[in-house]
Amino acid sequence: MKALVILVSCLCLCLAEKVRYDGHKVLRLVPVTEDQIETLHIWHNEAHKRGLIFWGEPGLLNQAVDVQFPPEKFAAYRTRLNNLGFQPIVLFDNVQSELDNQEAARVTRQQQTPTLNFFTDYRTAAEIFQWLDQTAANCPAGATCTVTNIGTSWEGRELKVFRISNGPNKRAIWIDSLIHAREWISGATNLYFIDQLVNNYNNAANRAMVDAYDWVFMPIINIDGYQYTFDTDRMWRRTRSDRGDILGCVGCDANRNFDFQWMTIGASDDPCSNTYAGVAPNSEPEVDAVRAYIMQNPSYYGAFITMHSYSQLFLLPYGYTVDFPQDYDEMMRVANLSTNALFNVHGTTYRFDSASVILYPSSGTSRDWAKGVPQIKYVYTFELRDTGNYGFILPPEQIIPSGQETWEAVKRIAQEITFP
Ligand SMILES: [Zn+2]
Repeated sequence: MKALVILVSCLCLCLAEKVRYDGHKVLRLVPVTEDQIETLHIWHNEAHKRGLIFWGEPGLLNQAVDVQFPPEKFAAYRTRLNNLGFQPIVLFDNVQSELDNQEAARVTRQQQTPTLNFFTDYRTAAEIFQWLDQTAANCPAGATCTVTNIGTSWEGRELKVFRISNGPNKRAIWIDSLIHAREWISGATNLYFIDQLVNNYNNAANRAMVDAYDWVFMPIINIDGYQYTFDTDRMWRRTRSDRGDILGCVGCDANRNFDFQWMTIGASDDPCSNTYAGVAPNSEPEVDAVRAYIMQNPSYYGAFITMHSYSQLFLLPYGYTVDFPQDYDEMMRVANLSTNALFNVHGTTYRFDSASVILYPSSGTSRDWAKGVPQIKYVYTFELRDTGNYGFILPPEQIIPSGQETWEAVKRIAQEITFP
């Protein structure tokens, strides 16, 4: 029966039209009054019903929120924004034309030079898995590279982890990405790290990284959602678990689904919300696979880095409380050095602090869970490029610069962290 359901939904998926965003505008809204912020919270809570797509979540006063408006509702919202005293900045006048431009550029690139560098474009899940296998096969002498299937997604896809090690008895650094499907730069940047460690192993600085730690990567956590961003809807964030919601809403926010302070704050119980926490903690097979894999050996992990986009931030736990976790000062010390190392590459600035201080409250995130349950000493969320010029649709020309600068940041973390 389940196979039939998957087959039928696959057929529907293949026949489904791609979602288009013709005439959709993205505005940056900076709330400076209580009235304004309250309105943003209401719109965020009712986003599905209102046809709005939030590119971020409303947080504190003076904190920008980028919101996508459909053309048929734009005039009414513009009036409402004016009446509320907002002074919006237009980030995109037409989301679809940017998507079309990038797709046209991609096709041209592939026609002109079919054997391109892997990092000149964003890659599909199939391309990424093929690359992981090929990279593991090129493992440098003296090191061991493995690709492990740690579970199966809701729609039946493999959940893969890549690991490199060159000796026993080391702690590991975990780096994951694409728990949010539309944050493509997170996956591409993560793969750049693997490329450095494996394909550029002879570089002394990279080699020193593998001498000091094992490295465990999970490039695509939310693989169903990621596939969906290629096939159907570029702006999709959530998983694809279909539990027969009455309004037809599918999936939840996997980064609200972890079993630590689940649904306490900054998460929604509305199945249509982009921050829907799911029917229960760990309800998503992708989340449960990560949990089970790490809990096999929690003390193995010295650092846990989870990569998102966008806004150029290093976030520390916690998101669910303004109280600071154990090792907060030490995590801040390392974050300071790490963001400096990042800045020195291309002059890109990242701010850093605990998520609840710098961003907005959130609970059930992998970051809070990594600190709260396996109690990993160093835990960071990277919110990668940019600060809103392109947001989620960051052009692929920025993959390599993003990889270069964040790799310096990650190396600095690995150099600085210490254990009793
Ligand atoms: Zn994210």
